[in-house]
Amino acid sequence: MKALRLENNQLKLAEIARQDEESEAVVRVTKSGICNTDLEIVRGYAGFSGTLGHEFVGVVEAATDAKHLIGKRVVGEINAGCGQCADCLRGDARHCPARTVLGIVGRDGAHAEFLNLPSRNLLEVPDAVSDEQAVFVEPLAAAFGITEQVEIYPETKVAIIGDGKLGNLCAQSLSLKSRNVRLVGKHTAKLALARARNIEGVLLENALKLKRSFDVVVEASGSESGFNLALDLLKPRGKLVLKSTFHGAAQWQAWRVVVDEITIVGSRCGRFAPALELLKNKSVDVESLISEEFSLSEGMKAMEKAGRKGVMKVLLSMAN
Ligand SMILES: [Zn+2]
Ligand SMILES: [Zn+2]
Repeated sequence: MKALRLENNQLKLAEIARQDEESEAVVRVTKSGICNTDLEIVRGYAGFSGTLGHEFVGVVEAATDAKHLIGKRVVGEINAGCGQCADCLRGDARHCPARTVLGIVGRDGAHAEFLNLPSRNLLEVPDAVSDEQAVFVEPLAAAFGITEQVEIYPETKVAIIGDGKLGNLCAQSLSLKSRNVRLVGKHTAKLALARARNIEGVLLENALKLKRSFDVVVEASGSESGFNLALDLLKPRGKLVLKSTFHGAAQWQAWRVVVDEITIVGSRCGRFAPALELLKNKSVDVESLISEEFSLSEGMKAMEKAGRKGVMKVLLSMAN
């Protein structure tokens, strides 16, 4: 099968053998989405080597321990746990110390014709959700997952920094809970996407006028300046949610966190079931975030495109 892989820090479209492990389900991937994390992995993040990709929708080809799933359209939670630790026994592998993560840690990912995951990770996609929508379940779950960690009420004032894919999904997710969500970004066109969903956009150069008026600020820009801007926007005793896997050495003023008694919340993966529900109920719009779709054989071109300025979601289609 074809697979978009990182080998010896070299990105390439490779021909590899399909893996059929008895213990895991085999999914024929229909579409996958390129995430900023993929681009960071190519830059050397996490020392990963193997097939990239963790956002996908596909059809179950084989599942020895879950035959009812065979032929079903599915998405898959990306953290595969040991099945034995306290976290796994509670049914939440997101912090299993022995976990592998699809296309990120120790496990081949979704930019391939087939992938393997434990069948317990798979969720059936409702008919009302298209493949184009379903491929957004993972990033949408990550965005909506903030609400698992931070209480957001209708009156909570929320700012999201970063108008990219993740920032947009965070803004849409949190505006389902709060009437007071602002999206801060640099790009008029990207802010317009949020405005179409009744989310007020604020250009970065005007953001400082909003001084210290927010209860919750979500950093989703992935840039160092985002950290300091977040502190400029937060009220004392506010909550700073760090959402982007920023890998630089951030220079930021930790003393301000102490003086203003800021709570910092790191936020990574969310649950898929609530995200599927949001897509099914059309509570969020993801299709307007798609910039372009490529075939898997054009995977190199697709990755290059995904890294360009102004580009939102790039999808890979395995059908051709
Ligand atoms: Zn991602
Ligand atoms: Zn475990």
